[in-house]
Amino acid sequence: MAKLIWRVKLVAELEPGIASETELARVERDDFAVEETLGLTLDEGKRLMAAAQAGIVRAEVAIMGERFRWCEHCNAKLLSKGYYPASFRSVFGSVDVRIRRLRACHCRAGRPEPKSFAAMFAAGGVAPELAYVTAKFAALAPFAPVAAMISELLPVGGAANAGTVRNRTMRVGLKLANLTAEDLPAPERNVVTPAVIVGLDGGYVRSRHRRPERNFNPHLTLQPR
Ligand SMILES: [Zn+2]
Repeated sequence: MAKLIWRVKLVAELEPGIASETELARVERDDFAVEETLGLTLDEGKRLMAAAQAGIVRAEVAIMGERFRWCEHCNAKLLSKGYYPASFRSVFGSVDVRIRRLRACHCRAGRPEPKSFAAMFAAGGVAPELAYVTAKFAALAPFAPVAAMISELLPVGGAANAGTVRNRTMRVGLKLANLTAEDLPAPERNVVTPAVIVGLDGGYVRSRHRRPERNFNPHLTLQPR
């Protein structure tokens, strides 16, 4: 029986015409396939996504670190205060990165510092899509099965327990609760709108108190008239 080998590469073209290759994964199979060995396994798929994400995120962070080295107001080169380690958590894995710390420019003395790329990591480095996926499923099922399902299917880092799912969902809820009227489209006054029908095919209602936790899972059908 012969071995078949696939090497999956990430080819980066960060400057026109200059490409660099990194091997992301190596997939090996016997030349006799059965159902279980046809195509990628779940684990191989997760590793592949995580490796591609790590390669792309590290390159983007490095490029942004260079871009912010120059003051956007006077173009002076900013002094570096070194790097600090941070994690970017996404649906395609957690990526450890080094974020460059820069001194504020002397031309900005006394004025608030502009929001930089590093601010994203100061806020926890959670990708909006990870917050979205977590909150979406946490609205439908208890936190622990949500954590188990997400980590079964995605190479997601740091969401393997109910506490993380709970905290992330609470942050999304807080963000929504804090939306101000300016964030909403202006209502059209005195306009007669046709009836709006809302359908709910399920929900998960939680108690406010953590212990003992009492939840119930209603299934409703609203029949429009
Ligand atoms: Zn400046």
